[in-house]
Amino acid sequence: MFSLSLPSQALRAVHLGNMFSLIKLQRVFTVHQVPKAFHEDGIISGYRHPRSSATDCVLSLFQLTNETLNVWTHFLPTWYFLWKLMTVLLMEDAWYDAYTWPLLVFLFSCCVYPLASSCAHTFSTMSARARHICYFFDYGALSLYSLGSAISYSAYVFPDAWVNSTFHAYYIPVAVLNTILSTSMACYSRVGLPFLHYKHDIDERFSERQSPRLSKVLRIFAFAYPYLFDNIPLFYRLFLCVGESCTDNEANSIHVHHTLLAFLTGFLFSTHLPERLAPGCFDYIGHSHQLFHVCGIIGTHFQMKALEADMVLRQSQLLVTAPPITFNNTVGSALVCVCISLGIICLYSVPLLYGSPETHPTKTEGKKCKH
Ligand SMILES: [Zn+2]
Repeated sequence: MFSLSLPSQALRAVHLGNMFSLIKLQRVFTVHQVPKAFHEDGIISGYRHPRSSATDCVLSLFQLTNETLNVWTHFLPTWYFLWKLMTVLLMEDAWYDAYTWPLLVFLFSCCVYPLASSCAHTFSTMSARARHICYFFDYGALSLYSLGSAISYSAYVFPDAWVNSTFHAYYIPVAVLNTILSTSMACYSRVGLPFLHYKHDIDERFSERQSPRLSKVLRIFAFAYPYLFDNIPLFYRLFLCVGESCTDNEANSIHVHHTLLAFLTGFLFSTHLPERLAPGCFDYIGHSHQLFHVCGIIGTHFQMKALEADMVLRQSQLLVTAPPITFNNTVGSALVCVCISLGIICLYSVPLLYGSPETHPTKTEGKKCKH
């Protein structure tokens, strides 16, 4: 019978040992053991080391920490939307059919925002600086998603009564301008103004040093305002419009599902429920940020279904009555949005990237959790 010689057995044991040391569970910490920049409302335990390596961050996705489900609830849907994007790209001759471009831009933004979010949640514990920069990208991606929604609403969702109106003509340019407001206000709510409020190191978030309530309100406004602006034509169509030119079709009920989920998403984000009622009870499973991700992504799914329904049901009519769909009001606008957001992210990141080495001078808890 075949048996391993002694040296090869030893070698195998070493390999196995290396493998297990690679996947061994990392230590997690309580809220009192990590710097303030890493604190989350109502979350007491399950924090990863605040100076994790990139490898540790990736490996931590395979053990339960307070971030694990935040990552997976956005990483897996990224692939779903990527599959949808590829399906449309490959099946519908999309390159030559301008009518499909708004849907493509929307689906692209639906791939980018959950991917940016899952990357931000994965690598946010590399350092306080990395955490801020990760979330700047997350905010930029949300701005792109907001513009993606506006571009597709302009093409497929506007009620007949508003097609070709003055509001319709300015709708996408205003949505592009909203990118500046949304990304910069979200970044500001986190750290304040670059060079003025912070230079190199930020151990505490701006909100904790200045006004926590104002910071939270600004962050909510940064996301809610573009969403509400984008949805003006849809809300008019669903809830206010009376008469024949209101575009009452089968897509309406799907739009309502999306709208309800969007408001539930905003409610979870702004209230921090349920963990605010029972701090420490939902640290790993069931806290508001996980629910916020899940509701948001299901809402995006319904939004996509509603867009597709409108796109098919109204095609013949919109091709005649609606303004022409061009490169500028689809892909071009999205590119402008990406450039604006990247510029703002650079502006907010430069002081963090080119400052002196990061320290946590006042944090005895930072010392406690060194490996
Ligand atoms: Zn998130």
